[in-house]
Amino acid sequence: MARSISVLGATGSIGASTLDLIRRNRSDWRVVALTANGDAEGLAKLAREFGAEVAVVADDAALPALREALAGTNIHAAAGPQALVEAASRGADITVAAIVGCAGLAPTMAAIERGGVIALANKEALVSAGDVMTAAVARHGATLLPVDSEHNAIFQCLAGNRLDHVHSITLTASGGPFRDWTLEQLHRATPAEAVKHPNWSMGAKISVDSATMMNKGLEFIEAFHLFPVGVERLRIIVHPQSIVHSMVEYRDGSTLAQLGPSDMRVPIASALAWPERMDTPCAPLDLAAIGQLTFRAPDEDRFPATRLARNAVIEGGAAPATMNAANEIAVAAFLGGQIAFTRIVQSVEDVLSRSAMPAPACLDDVIAIDAEARARARELMEPVR
Ligand code: NAD
Ligand code: MG
Repeated sequence: MARSISVLGATGSIGASTLDLIRRNRSDWRVVALTANGDAEGLAKLAREFGAEVAVVADDAALPALREALAGTNIHAAAGPQALVEAASRGADITVAAIVGCAGLAPTMAAIERGGVIALANKEALVSAGDVMTAAVARHGATLLPVDSEHNAIFQCLAGNRLDHVHSITLTASGGPFRDWTLEQLHRATPAEAVKHPNWSMGAKISVDSATMMNKGLEFIEAFHLFPVGVERLRIIVHPQSIVHSMVEYRDGSTLAQLGPSDMRVPIASALAWPERMDTPCAPLDLAAIGQLTFRAPDEDRFPATRLARNAVIEGGAAPATMNAANEIAVAAFLGGQIAFTRIVQSVEDVLSRSAMPAPACLDDVIAIDAEARARARELMEPVR
């Protein structure tokens, strides 16, 4: 029987990769809800192709265009944050959480409350909500399957093993496009240079995060919540080829790693088919052609974001949500030409050092921390020198 699926953030990079897999296995799936931010035309095209039950744009202003583009179909069109939450609550067997940023938190939580399978790409939601989200997963009997390539790799390496046998978990990092740049060069890095990732093709925000290494910082916190082995057992290593997607070391000296091409369809397929496997169009690894896999320690002097993230998760409370929100504002300001590249992480540190919000106990608390940190971060955004 066909499984039902909703894709939150259907028009994005992860959304497109997910729908590409669905398209190739059309009869296995029934599409329930597809959502986007403001791209009504793009969303309507997908909703028509996949025969979605409902299409939702987050931006109210895009509703007339969505209605027009869906005229003559019986696809329900809706708009706004509440409509996103309702779409996520429709109870698909599997919900792909692929909205970028904390904007995806409320719909992801709504899907969790329905108790199905959540294929989580939206790391910012888990970083911000932390225990609030993992507690909801447990309370509602939902299943959280990581789509982020590193976490999907770790999930696969942990299969059949006990967490208390884990000695350490090592997240690999490509190091991003500026891996070998000096601080002086980093200061002058442009948005166009930052979004040009050497190995992966991704949305603009995560590409900038990858360039600052804040992506690895967010992933460190994501791993902390997904795999509770303790912060002192989590490591980061730079691996420029992005072939080893992460590894788990066990107490007996065995290290299990997951390898694969730098194509998000691999981890997405792993989550969609879990605990089975499905075909993807990705070419198998040709290790002889790749020749070398190299590794080196991260440089936290040039890329302090991972240190900030480690400290934020150790501090706990409001710190991770504050860090994430400040980073979202700073990345948007950098992409808009308002601040220098190196100012992104500095401003996140500034916001963190001034924040005094209490630990969140529920979704509304997380949203309040997020809003407060955004307001503080916006005050800091000054023009590029
Ligand atoms: P993207 O920018 O390509 O797409 C984002 C999607 O979210 C789009 O459909 C967009 O319309 C929607 N969206 C944006 N702002 C929104 C808002 N305010 N409200 C509702 N919807 C909104 O981003 P992406 O690269 O696909 O990344 C999506 C998520 O997956 C991010 O959390 C990212 O960190 C994570 N992720 C992405 C990759 C990758 O390879 N692209 C890899 C690992 C994890
Ligand atoms: Mg990743």
